[in-house]
This record gives sequence, structure tokens and C-alpha cells, in this order.
Amino acid sequence: MKTRNIKTVAEGNWVVEGAGVKLKRILGLGDPALTDPFLLLDNFGSADPADYMAGFPWHPHRGIETVTYMLEGAVAHGDSLGNSGLIKSGQVQWMTAGSGIVHQEMPKAYEGTMRGFQLWINLPKKHKMTRPRYRDISAESIPEAAGPGYKMKVICGDYGGVSGPAQDIVIQPWFFDVKADAGAEFTLDVRPEDTVLVCVFEGKGYFDKDKERLIEPGQLAVMGEGEALACSASGEGMRFLLLAGRPLKEPIAWRGPIVMNTEHELKTAFEEYRKGTFLKK
Ligand code: MN
Repeated sequence: MKTRNIKTVAEGNWVVEGAGVKLKRILGLGDPALTDPFLLLDNFGSADPADYMAGFPWHPHRGIETVTYMLEGAVAHGDSLGNSGLIKSGQVQWMTAGSGIVHQEMPKAYEGTMRGFQLWINLPKKHKMTRPRYRDISAESIPEAAGPGYKMKVICGDYGGVSGPAQDIVIQPWFFDVKADAGAEFTLDVRPEDTVLVCVFEGKGYFDKDKERLIEPGQLAVMGEGEALACSASGEGMRFLLLAGRPLKEPIAWRGPIVMNTEHELKTAFEEYRKGTFLKK
């Protein structure tokens, strides 16, 4: 069985997004073909509400899915489908923007460090204009798979006979939160056709068999080809997101919150937004 090596490591950059939210953009500034079908990964984490309270007021999305995973804290949201509520610690919001959704995402002041992720997954050409869909996933509904030295929250996808609650996602991605014990060494089977990304957010460890490149919190390793992922946690253990999905290999036209296949489709989307005809039914 061929073990994957590390192709490259993304360090991320601090950016200011929305109405003035300071966050670390781990993916989304480089070549999207490298991480296809994943477009963007933001890691927010701050103990100072001034870094995040401005939030992300009303804005559109089209052509993608956005997945918000709150580790700690709460984000109030509302959208053009009529959904509103709070995404709290341990919860996931899985939003399929499809043909178009307009929403706002406003973090609440939190005592302690507010932290979490937002991932953007591309939709294939034939599903870009699909009907928008929204799912709230409670912390309790996320099952765990376990193996020697690790436990894994299965949010989307199947692993070890455990199925995640985010069902019927068109590209059938994996979205797992893996917690490895101190010093644990184990191998995870991965689908050979997938792009595989690992983003460490607690502790540190290795994903290359030769243990040449230590991956630290906030770093994301883009893995090369193979059927297995060798994981090796440091003495403090580690926790990481494991993201996997089959590449779409389609042209990408991307501006801000909208990702289509052609410039013309992008232009149409922004024109429709301006004219008030953006939302389809
Ligand atoms: Mn958004």
C-alpha cells in the first residue's frame, strides 16, 4: 500500500475579511488547482472580540458550498432562505450556495478564545446552479470513529463503518476532525483518487513516513498520491482536520464570494446581484 508524501505545506496569511475580521487564510490565496476541489480554508481564532465582532454582514455566494465548523464560540447567522440561528461550539453549518444565497455571519462576543474554521468546497459545473440548501449539524449528532491511538469526529463521509451527518453532498467529500494521542503512530486508509489535505490545529506531528517535516498548528499539508496516510503525533498529541475529495478538474472563475467556471458567468452573477435578480427559487 502506497503511503502519501507531503507535496507542499501552506502556512497561511493573516487577512482582514468581512466588515473587519482578522483571520488566518490557510488556503485561498494560491493556485486552486493544487487543492481542487477545495478552494479556501479560513482559521479564525482570537481571545479579543475586537478581532471578530464586525462579522460578515449580508453578502452573496454562488457556485460553492461553505462549511463552518465552530470549535469554540458562537456565530449568529441569517439567510435568504429564511434560516436564522446560532452556530455554537462543536456545531457545523453546511451551506450549499448553489444558484445563490445571501447571508450574514456575525460572531458573538465569547469569553475565552473564539476559534473555528470555514471551508469552501467547489461545486461541479453541472451542480453550480443547484437549489440552495442549508443544514445545521449539532455537536451531538457527529459520531466518532476510533482506531489505535486516535479518535475521529466524522462530519461528512464514511470511515470505519461510521457515517457523518452531512449526507447527500454532491462531491462526497470527507470532513473529519482527528484527535491523536500523545506519541501515537497510525495509518489511515484514504481514497486513492482524492486530493487529501491535513490541517493541524492542536499539538503537532508528522504525515510523511520519514518524519522530515513537522507540521505545526495553523499549517496545512497538501498530500501527494497514495492510498494511505501515515500519521505520527508529537509528545503532546495532535488534532487535525482531514479533508479529502476527488478533484473536479474544471475551469475556475472566482471573484470574492462567487466561484463559477467562466468570466461570463461571474459577470452575470454580479450583475444579477446588483439588479436584485440574483436569488433563484
Ligand atoms: Mn459567507
